[in-house]
Amino acid sequence: MSATESTLAVIKEMAAAMEEHRRALTRLDSEIGDGDHGNNMHRGFQAALERLEATNPQSPADALKALSTALISKVGGAAGPLYGTAFLRASTALSGKEDLSPEDVAEAVGAALSGVKQRGKAEEGDKTMVDALAPAAEAAKEAASAGSAGAGEVFRAAAEAAGEGAEATVELTAKRGRASYLGERAAGHMDPGARSSYLLLDATARALGA
Ligand code: ADP
Ligand code: MG
Repeated sequence: MSATESTLAVIKEMAAAMEEHRRALTRLDSEIGDGDHGNNMHRGFQAALERLEATNPQSPADALKALSTALISKVGGAAGPLYGTAFLRASTALSGKEDLSPEDVAEAVGAALSGVKQRGKAEEGDKTMVDALAPAAEAAKEAASAGSAGAGEVFRAAAEAAGEGAEATVELTAKRGRASYLGERAAGHMDPGARSSYLLLDATARALGA
């Protein structure tokens, strides 16, 4: 499979995960937000599949750019522009590459994290998707530099770290996003965006056979 085909397979697996977890993500968001996160993500990824079908991208970077555009234009709320920025930065990081090394994909995860932080101004501990993406980027970098991991294993390491990061948001109070309006009442609930970040990385690893 070419890297472009792998990227398309990854995006399809992500879309399937957003479909499967739509209700659960929306339920998390109804506890500490406005109850639309699962629907937002599902709508955005369905739009991305349509866009990919229509544009027939010829590189991993083009595919990720189409995904970004779909998310920015179709997902209302905070998460659309944040994930849109994440995938745009990942696209830029992979620009001009036909084959993707473990280092390339780790760099793309790091670029996605930087984009989210820059756009949303959240730091680790603010109870947002950054709490999943920051440990994920760190784990991806470590796995890639260990030398023995392929791209799938790099994403598996990233997903595991993101899962732990998402779990750790349960006890936090929020400093960014709608949940920050709740003060102490946000504690005891997992951040929906941290959960969706884990699910996207898990889907990526699975699509790459890890
Ligand atoms: P909205 O909050 O506008 O309804 P969503 O429900 O789709 O949008 O997404 C909510 C998620 O977005 C939160 O769970 C959080 O992870 C993430 N989020 C919100 N604001 C920020 C921010 N400033 N930086 C990073 N992530 C954020
Ligand atoms: Mg919401």
